[in-house]
Amino acid sequence: EKRESRKQKRKKATSRDIPDHFLPKVAIVGRPNGNRAIVVDEPGVTRDRLYGRSFWGEHEFMVVDTGGVVTVSKSQANVMEDLAISTTIGMDGISLASREAAVARMPSMIEKQASAAVEESSVIIFLVDGQAGLTAADVEIADWLRRNYSNKCIILAVNKCESPRKGIMQASEFWSLGLSPLPISALSGTGTGELLDFVCSGLGKIECPENLNEEETYIPAIAIVGRPNVGKSSILNALVGEDRTIVSPISGTTRDAIDTEFVGPDGQKFVLIDTAGIRRRATVASSGSVTEALSVNRAFRGIRRSDVVALVIEAMACITEQDYKIAERIEKEGKGCLIVVNKWDTIPNKNQQTATYYEQDVREKLRTLQWAPIVYSTAIAGQGVEKIIVAASTVEKERSRRLGKRGRVYYCTQAAIRPPTFVFFVNDSNLFPETYRRYMEKQLRSDAGFAGTPIRLLWRSRR
Ligand code: GDP
Repeated sequence: EKRESRKQKRKKATSRDIPDHFLPKVAIVGRPNGNRAIVVDEPGVTRDRLYGRSFWGEHEFMVVDTGGVVTVSKSQANVMEDLAISTTIGMDGISLASREAAVARMPSMIEKQASAAVEESSVIIFLVDGQAGLTAADVEIADWLRRNYSNKCIILAVNKCESPRKGIMQASEFWSLGLSPLPISALSGTGTGELLDFVCSGLGKIECPENLNEEETYIPAIAIVGRPNVGKSSILNALVGEDRTIVSPISGTTRDAIDTEFVGPDGQKFVLIDTAGIRRRATVASSGSVTEALSVNRAFRGIRRSDVVALVIEAMACITEQDYKIAERIEKEGKGCLIVVNKWDTIPNKNQQTATYYEQDVREKLRTLQWAPIVYSTAIAGQGVEKIIVAASTVEKERSRRLGKRGRVYYCTQAAIRPPTFVFFVNDSNLFPETYRRYMEKQLRSDAGFAGTPIRLLWRSRR
């Protein structure tokens, strides 16, 4: 029964009722013989079909293999879901089939065949063979992509990088293509989750006129990040209780974060991204430093998917290198942020100034986040946790705010005499009210005279 509701939720989270042609497209290009087709095992999908409807987390898209067949099947998606839950590292539900049908096409042929598909795609996966290494054809394709499609999101995926360590080496020679290579192994699943994450972040918002209004469907995501043991889980538990309702088990896509739906005090819906989870579930014992390093990566992935980040630090502990790294990343990715100083109860002899002193210290040490509000909490007692949500909500609103359009004067010229006539070229003349125009005339007269004669000011909008 639980499984059923999970499925339903995933259905809700995705947008199944959107017709294919409204979905954004992802094109896979690469030199032929690249074994790039993703397995098809859904009945009814014929081998010569070019498009495959596919989803990853909340994103749904059409995959277009410019060489032939591609789709991520429904049953594989279920495998993905199971993997997401069990946090097993392994197949990501996207696997490779060697395609005997791969015709040996020259890049010039690829151009002809694929440009139509690439043209209509918002994301391009450029697949190269890490075992074969860099080839002249790869260089040619890279040039072609860069020349023609620099406005699109191009992801360079280096396939056949089964071993993570060797994979980085294999992938490194592709840097010369002028794109950053992502080692993957479609065979073992290594890196494919990350690839799909990149794909999703490169996808634009779905434009579907009848049922999707961005503002209506936008649910901001709050990632709770920080070093191990600062109290992330305790905050989450205080907010939503131990047994969380999982929004969408695969929406994390990275299998190390679990998303929870949450309704804030003012009725605003949020998705909480819990980046603490895996440590408790992981069975492999690892050293402290490894755990810390892993936790930073996990934080990075949480940050990427979020709108607002709650960076949790511990009141009694020092701010460390990891906190800086996380802070920098938040800023770099343009995410909203609030700093949560948890375990506030552990500070002895607090008085009115304590928070002020503390704030000064935090500001000094986390300079990149000067603009982030600070919230103090004692998660184990449930104190201050709702302030986190209130602050996050405010931050989210600020992050979505647009200043009103302002009037701009590009230049002004005297167009005529008798009477002196001046033309102001502006962005939009409606933005210059009568009061401003009178003020301008006064300024002009005080600077340039014209006593005894009327002067005319004309305001011209420029498009
Ligand atoms: P996480 O690794 O960031 O998820 O941290 P946890 O939520 O697992 O908390 C780590 C430890 O700190 C646990 O033993 C918690 O009980 C404890 N802890 C969490 N929040 C507080 C707090 O506000 N005050 C105190 N004194 N302990 C806390």
